[in-house]
Amino acid sequence: MRPTGKLHLGHYFGVLASWRRFQESGEYQCYYMVADWHAFSSEYKNSSVLNRNIIEVAADWLASGIDPAKSVVFVQSAVPEHTELALLFSMIVPLPWLERNPTYKELKTELKNKDLHTIGFLGYPVLQAADILIYRANSVPIGEDQLPHLELTREIARRFNNFYGDYFPEPAAVLTETPKVPGTDNRKMSKSYDNCLYISDSPQTLREKVLRMVTDPARVRRNDPGHPEVCSVFAFHKIINLDETPQIESDCQSAGIGCFDCKKNMAEKLINYMAPVYEKRLGWIQRPGQIIEMLNDGNQRAGTVAGDNLKKAKKMAGMLWHE
Ligand code: SF4
Repeated sequence: MRPTGKLHLGHYFGVLASWRRFQESGEYQCYYMVADWHAFSSEYKNSSVLNRNIIEVAADWLASGIDPAKSVVFVQSAVPEHTELALLFSMIVPLPWLERNPTYKELKTELKNKDLHTIGFLGYPVLQAADILIYRANSVPIGEDQLPHLELTREIARRFNNFYGDYFPEPAAVLTETPKVPGTDNRKMSKSYDNCLYISDSPQTLREKVLRMVTDPARVRRNDPGHPEVCSVFAFHKIINLDETPQIESDCQSAGIGCFDCKKNMAEKLINYMAPVYEKRLGWIQRPGQIIEMLNDGNQRAGTVAGDNLKKAKKMAGMLWHE
């Protein structure tokens, strides 16, 4: 995950929930990486914020249940083997593989206020392949939109194996289902829309944001029947207030409940739900030294595995001139 700022509830109920599931399943040794080189590839003119962002993201992860005793939690740039393997891959990856990458085209359009005509940005799928293959990972938890990326990683693994012998597994996608989490304006929750509820939001801030949320635009008066399926508040009821959801749905449709009461109910439910996470985050963010210590420990654990794997890959490619 790129450290581009504080994480919101879309992350909490989406990617972090699946990371937690993988961690707790006992089936996987998980590696969770703060991808600061990837953030640098688009934020290189404003890179002074990256170190602070790493601490913020790590605090969000820890508060959300990512447990460094169970998963390896580390910072990409602190494990230089990633970039060395990416360099090796960049020598064997044909340029058209990168130019046809749909995410590259999309991101360039999305971030059009940034100059992204750089070698690093074009080559970021190569670094991403190195991030995965340096641990010889078998599985990668991703959403469907990231499948073309993983396919590229698999192609790179295949190309290396064809040239130098079987070494890298072709990692499989473990598709993660994430609930739809709308922002306060009912669009997708996103920092660029300024519509986020953050993991780090205080109870008071959460309450204020929920009370300002966009509901069914057709409900102009209190006695207009509502359409909960288009309402952002209802989307949250469906995520954290399952028991009451059927009742709220029918009360909304029959105009038996007003939006203000419905929002107040949701705000209190959400505050209660997020309170332990908020408290835990507060505890961590007040002790940044401990976050750094935790990350350094993860860097070391990741570095040991990455170091062994890189050495073997370099040897196979004829690039290890001494042991
Ligand atoms: Fe949304 Fe609740 Fe209002 Fe229905 S009553 S439109 S679910 S806020």
